[in-house]
Amino acid sequence: MINVAIDGPAGAGKSTVARGAAKELGYIYVDTGALYRAIALNAVRNGVIDSNEGIINMLSSTDVKLVFKDGEQCVYLNGEDVSSLIRIPEISMSASKVSAIPRVRDFLLDLQRNIAKNNNVIMDGRDIGSVVLPDAQCKIFLFASPECRAQRRYKEHIEKGDSITYEEVLADVNRRDYQDSHREVAPLKPTEESVMFDTTGLEFEQSVAKAVEIIKESINENL
Ligand code: C5P
Repeated sequence: MINVAIDGPAGAGKSTVARGAAKELGYIYVDTGALYRAIALNAVRNGVIDSNEGIINMLSSTDVKLVFKDGEQCVYLNGEDVSSLIRIPEISMSASKVSAIPRVRDFLLDLQRNIAKNNNVIMDGRDIGSVVLPDAQCKIFLFASPECRAQRRYKEHIEKGDSITYEEVLADVNRRDYQDSHREVAPLKPTEESVMFDTTGLEFEQSVAKAVEIIKESINENL
């Protein structure tokens, strides 16, 4: 199976680039952030988001699944499709919080690896190249300036009708970057083999075309 890992900070364009490249190459796009978001949603619903112990205890009654419908990923929490519910800023911060707990990361590891074992995938996240798929044939570290990333996220929120300011989005991006790159387990960082890809100022189509080029090159090199 071909496994492509795309890691990088929030708003660098990982999901749009990974989805676009997966479509072009006929691979499945797996958004692993959705898994941490589903756990976070469950923790918020159960009132345990402020307690690591509470979150860990909750895992035994938490069932998270990814289902692919016409190539689009849906995330199920205890049988309920929560794909849209997990996309709010409160859940973004809570996901970053639960993701720093080693037991949560372990809980989601096999699920992610099993999908990659059985399918050609482009998987995006923070630790895909370093922990989840260390043998991936292609590893890309996608980044962009914080202002550029905040601008993209802000546009997405406004299009959805959310009431939020650019400054709030930028603060959220900076806070999550700090939290994700300073945690003890699986901190966000490129691996030695990662191809560094700066998407600052690039349009969507340019980023996808470049990613497809990097993927094809890496796969040929690793075959
Ligand atoms: O990618 P997304 O913004 O949806 O991820 C939400 C949060 O989940 C991130 O801020 C990060 O803390 C966490 N995450 C992670 N490892 C991954 C994917 C996401 O720690 N592989």
